[in-house]
Amino acid sequence: MDPKHTKEKTMTSTLKWQCTVCGLKEQGPKPPATCPKCGVKADRFIKIK
Ligand SMILES: [Zn+2]
Repeated sequence: MDPKHTKEKTMTSTLKWQCTVCGLKEQGPKPPATCPKCGVKADRFIKIK
């Protein structure tokens, strides 16, 4: 009666981030350390859908 739970979903969820300063969008598990366009730090990035 036990369904197989051997399937492990890959936890590498790709999130989308947007720089609140210049609007640049990046994808990845976390925002870039610095914005490649305007150079602000990662805390200026917000998670978007
Ligand atoms: Zn930026």
